Amino acid sequence: MAPHNQSNTIDFDAAKLQRLGYASRIQKSLKPVSLAQLRQQLSLQLQTSLEAERILELFYREVQRLVPLGALSYQLASCDLRLDLGERGNHSAGYRLSHAGEYLGELTFRRNQRFSEDELGQLESLLASLLFPLRNALLYRAALQSALRDPLTETGNRVAMSQTLKREVDIARRSLQPLSVLMVDIDHFKQINDSHGHSIGDEALKAVATALKDSLRNVDMVFRYGGEEFMVLLSNTSREAASMVGERLRMAVMGIQYLVENRAIELSVSLGCASLLPGESMESLLRRADSALYVSKREGRNRLSMAG
Ligand code: GH3
Ligand code: MG
Ligand code: MG
Repeated sequence: MAPHNQSNTIDFDAAKLQRLGYASRIQKSLKPVSLAQLRQQLSLQLQTSLEAERILELFYREVQRLVPLGALSYQLASCDLRLDLGERGNHSAGYRLSHAGEYLGELTFRRNQRFSEDELGQLESLLASLLFPLRNALLYRAALQSALRDPLTETGNRVAMSQTLKREVDIARRSLQPLSVLMVDIDHFKQINDSHGHSIGDEALKAVATALKDSLRNVDMVFRYGGEEFMVLLSNTSREAASMVGERLRMAVMGIQYLVENRAIELSVSLGCASLLPGESMESLLRRADSALYVSKREGRNRLSMAG
């Protein structure tokens, strides 16, 4: 852990926030303690949660009993995790966190007053109490995430699909927003397996999943529904808009240049689209999308059909 240079640049955003009176909201009510006491209390307290955000919030609050701060920011890109607490400041001290050789993210303290050498020493000593609980929380987070992912295609699995669909149907009902789903099935996939083998089939499956994700704004809404079937959930999307997205996905899959022994494998998908009707259940929505997909298959594949 090495502190970055303390920065002396004037931060115009922070200066503006101060003028607007935001800086006065900083909590100062917690009783000061000694470094040794605080370290001991921190290591107990941080173990009470497995949630990274909660652990960092506790840390930010408790550390200020010893070293006043204006803000704390944390980020770990590999986990898509980012947290900004407080209201920034002109001076910063940044740390690259690691535990037993494992990278645990970047953490930056900020405030409007320069940090003294003593204070930096205290912050570093307190950071040591953060590492172990933070690592456990990140492991837990990764375990939760992998329980909801399909490892081959890096899309959501069936568990994630029903959780998300249930949530989105509830939201759509309550907020009277449209919701549409697309069922996507690879055409003649069995032939790809039969003529090139299962592992080439797997690669083709990955290529299709990537093409779908790359053509969508929200990649978290693609799920592997079956062997070579995907479900795309389009929240706040009308029937007309969903039909345009479906067509875009179909074109994206046609555009895949997938070569095996220098010969391009033709890939295409058939799609079925359905939009949630008032009072409709999630099962019925999926059933209608599935029937529309079946129509696309029957009518020659590589096309999109809309549920009636
Ligand atoms: P259609 O156009 O009617 O959809 O024809 P199809 O051949 O795609 O349909 P069918 O449902 O008959 O075959 C799907 C095939 O997908 C059968 C199965 O072996 C293959 N499959 C399912 N999951 C996987 C997988 O994870 N990897 C590979 N390589 N193949 C898979
Ligand atoms: Mg199928
Ligand atoms: Mg198929």
